Amino acid sequence: MKPCQRCQSLIDEYILDKQLEVLRDLTVDDFNVCADCATIVADACVECGGGVYVPQNESDVPDYCPACRSDLIARTGRDPGWTCDTAST
Ligand SMILES: [Zn+2]
Ligand SMILES: [Zn+2]
Repeated sequence: MKPCQRCQSLIDEYILDKQLEVLRDLTVDDFNVCADCATIVADACVECGGGVYVPQNESDVPDYCPACRSDLIARTGRDPGWTCDTAST
């Protein structure tokens, strides 16, 4: 077990894995935070309709899941950020 980078408690990978089920491609190995500190919103990705991961420094729910963001970077060579409309505030 490794400690959560945010709250320093040990990460329970079973609980975190359950929480990550709605996310494409990501597993507990991709996360350094515990289930309490990882914010997952189901069905929020505008690309695939899957769950998205809300980064710790973001207050808004992202439009892209991490997998779709990676796809977009691979396709366009540009990082779209977490939202599809970065122009709006
Ligand atoms: Zn934590
Ligand atoms: Zn997606």
